[in-house]
Amino acid sequence: MDYRILGRTGLNVSRVGFGASPLGAEFGEIDTREGERAVHRAIDEGINYFDVAPYYGRTLAETRLGRFLFGRRAKVVLASKVGRYDITDFDFSARRVRLSVEESLVRLKTDHLDICQLHDVEHAETDRLIEEIIPVLYRLREEGKVRFVGITGYPVAVLRRILERADVDTVLSYCRYDLLDTSLQEVLLPVARDRGVGVINGSPLHMRALTDTGAPDWHPAPRRVVDACARAARLCAEEGGSLSELAMEFALANRDISVTLVGMSKVRHVEANVAALERHSDPSLLERVVALLEPVRNVVWMEGRPENDDPGAVPKRTLGLERNDGRSGGGRQP
Ligand code: NAD
Repeated sequence: MDYRILGRTGLNVSRVGFGASPLGAEFGEIDTREGERAVHRAIDEGINYFDVAPYYGRTLAETRLGRFLFGRRAKVVLASKVGRYDITDFDFSARRVRLSVEESLVRLKTDHLDICQLHDVEHAETDRLIEEIIPVLYRLREEGKVRFVGITGYPVAVLRRILERADVDTVLSYCRYDLLDTSLQEVLLPVARDRGVGVINGSPLHMRALTDTGAPDWHPAPRRVVDACARAARLCAEEGGSLSELAMEFALANRDISVTLVGMSKVRHVEANVAALERHSDPSLLERVVALLEPVRNVVWMEGRPENDDPGAVPKRTLGLERNDGRSGGGRQP
């Protein structure tokens, strides 16, 4: 395993991080014994960064991860979140944030979170987050319940605005540095570097759009994006390659990103994603896949409050659960 320093936290974190949302059956029920084996295999392979949230499986992912990490907690950097509890249930109030951390500590069977992140800040009012809620996290830090403070979200512009005005240790965005979208590099990395903020890249497989089996029905990306990914997967298969492998290699090649979080609940995925650090697929296949995806590069969807959308964001393509205005709240999103 290869490690990087996570910005000013000084934590030495594995470049491949364990995204625990699938442990909460967020994308369908899992074999829990296999999930437990995946967690142990990850630690044996040197993965020391674990990301979870109360939202994942509506507390199930934290409960399972706490159980699976029993006896090995001290070996890992444990990151969880506050503020998001269901698809449309957000509560960033000081009272709920405090309570949420206490509840996470019980579920995770630990006395502190290494990183406590505000979950999906685009759903909150930015001034209030900066003036009222981030200070609550710092008070929890003084009390020893959290070691470092971070923010997460999808639109990179609002994350950047928060980094410019507030004092946080880490920033996590998802689907924003991969074969389809590299805005994290352009928008977030420069300011994060200037301010010593650790950068975490979630969803290098673009929430499964960049896998050989393709995007799930609930995927929020527009149809033309999902279709282009399916064509890329076919091209890879015809050439004896794998889109998932190419996507992992692409994301991990960026050495300015400290940790890349991929969702895992299977041993074979742990093995494949660790192997991606060393693998070098056919560069001409990568070039052809990049060219094929070029027409749908950096297509972003609306997420959160309208004022927090990235420029040019398009409505989500979600099935079923969208609100009347067709904005966030639709579909399922980790
Ligand atoms: P992802 O792009 O990492 O895709 C993960 C899914 O792809 C898994 O559920 C698994 O089914 C499959 N997979 C994993 N490895 C594979 C492989 N080698 N080959 C083929 N398929 C593979 O998306 P994700 O799970 O949404 O994101 C990863 C993690 O990042 C999450 O678990 C979460 O911890 C974090 N995250 C955080 C936020 C946030 O804070 N707002 C948002 C998204 C993701």
